[in-house]
Amino acid sequence: MQKKDCVLLKCCRLCGNKDIIRVFNLGYTPLANSYSNKNVSSKLKKYPLGLNLCNGCGHLQLSHSVKPEKMFSNYLYKTNTSYKNFLHFKNYANKIKKKFSRKGDKILDIASNDGTFLNFFNKKKFFRVGIDPAKNLKKLTTNKGIIQIDDFFTEKTSFKIKKKYQKFDIITANHVCAHVENLNDFFRGVKNLLKDDGIFIFEVSYRGSVLKKNTFDTIYHEHLDYHALSPISKFIKKFNLKLFDFEITEAQGGSLRVYVSKNLRIRNKKKIKNQLIKEKKIYKLFNINTYKIFREKINNCKVQLQRILKDFDKKNYNIAGYGAAAKTTTLLNYFNLNKNKTIKFIFDDNKLKQGLYLPGTQIKILDPRYLFQENLDILIIFAWNYSDIIIKNIKKKLKKKKSLKFLVPFPKPKILK
Ligand SMILES: [Zn+2]
Repeated sequence: MQKKDCVLLKCCRLCGNKDIIRVFNLGYTPLANSYSNKNVSSKLKKYPLGLNLCNGCGHLQLSHSVKPEKMFSNYLYKTNTSYKNFLHFKNYANKIKKKFSRKGDKILDIASNDGTFLNFFNKKKFFRVGIDPAKNLKKLTTNKGIIQIDDFFTEKTSFKIKKKYQKFDIITANHVCAHVENLNDFFRGVKNLLKDDGIFIFEVSYRGSVLKKNTFDTIYHEHLDYHALSPISKFIKKFNLKLFDFEITEAQGGSLRVYVSKNLRIRNKKKIKNQLIKEKKIYKLFNINTYKIFREKINNCKVQLQRILKDFDKKNYNIAGYGAAAKTTTLLNYFNLNKNKTIKFIFDDNKLKQGLYLPGTQIKILDPRYLFQENLDILIIFAWNYSDIIIKNIKKKLKKKKSLKFLVPFPKPKILK
C-alpha cells in the first residue's frame, strides 16, 4: 500500500513500461467526491491531475495516484441513485443470467456498492457475495440478504474469501478497475477465485467514448485508467486468462465490457480483431496528436464559457447549477468557473450530498425542490450529457411565468430558454 497521499506514476499500470508521455494537464483539483461542510470544503487538499499515454501498449492513465483510503472509505455515490443506471445494471444482469448462469451458481461482485447489481440475481437461485470498502453502504447490502465483505479487493483478501467460500462461477467488477491501486494484484486475486469453467466480466469506462463525446470531466483522481481494448487484451494475456468477447455499452457515457475465462470458450475472434484495428487506424487512440485535438476542443469551450459567465455576472444574474456529480468538480475546477462566487447553489437528487458543499468551493448542494423557490435567472446543467432529460423534467414543474434560462456548458456552451 502506498504511504504518501499522492504519488507520481512512473510507469504504465498495464505493461510496466516507463516510456509514458504527458498528453493533458488539468492542474490541481480536490478529490472529486470529497463533499464536506463549508469550513472543510475550501481547505481541501488539491492534487495534480494529468493524463499520460504509454508508448509501449497504448494505455492512457493518470499522472498521479491518490491513496485509495482517501477516496473510498465513505463513499456517497450509490448505484441505485439514477434510474438510468439502475436499468443498465438490470439489463446487464439479465444478460449474464441468460447467457452464462446455471442454478446454484456462486457469484462474486467486486465493489458491490449498495448491492443493486447483485440483487438482480435471485437469492433463491444464486449464492451472492459482494465486497466493497465503503462501510457506510454495508447495511444497505446486508438488508438485501447479500453477504458483504467491507474491504478492498486484493490478492490477499482473495485468499481469505477462498478459505471461507471457495471458488466462484461468475465474478463481476463494474467500474472499479480504474480505482484499483495495483491492477496486477487485483487480477491475480480474480484468477485465484475463478473456477476453471467460470467467467469474469468487468466493465470500465471506454476511452474511445471519452474522446468521441469530449467527456473530459470523467477525468478525476478516482479514475486512474482510460481503457481501450488493445492494451487490455495484452494485459489479460499476462495472467493466462482469455478474452473471449467484449461490448461497448452506454453506461457512464460509454463503457467497455470485457468477458474473460480461464479456458477458451467460443471466441468472437473476428469481432475482437476488427475492434483492435478500429482503435488503431480509425479512432487513432494511440496517436499523440489525437490528444492535442481533444485538448484544444476543451480549451476553446473553456474560454467561451468564461466569457458568457462574466457577462451574466455584470448583469447581476442569479445563477445556480444542476448536478453535483464527481465530474462537476473537474469541470468547475478546470474551467475555473467560480472565480467570483458566480454560482449560488447546486441542486442534486442524491440525498446523501444535500446540505454539503461541492469539493473545493463554497457552493452548497440543495434538494432540487428548492429550485422552484429560488428566483433564478440561469441554471447551468453540469450533468450536460443528460441535459435533454433534465431540462424537460424541470420545465414540466416550472410555472409558466418563470423566465429561467438553461446553460449547457459543454461540448459547446449553449443557452436555452
Ligand atoms: Zn503500457
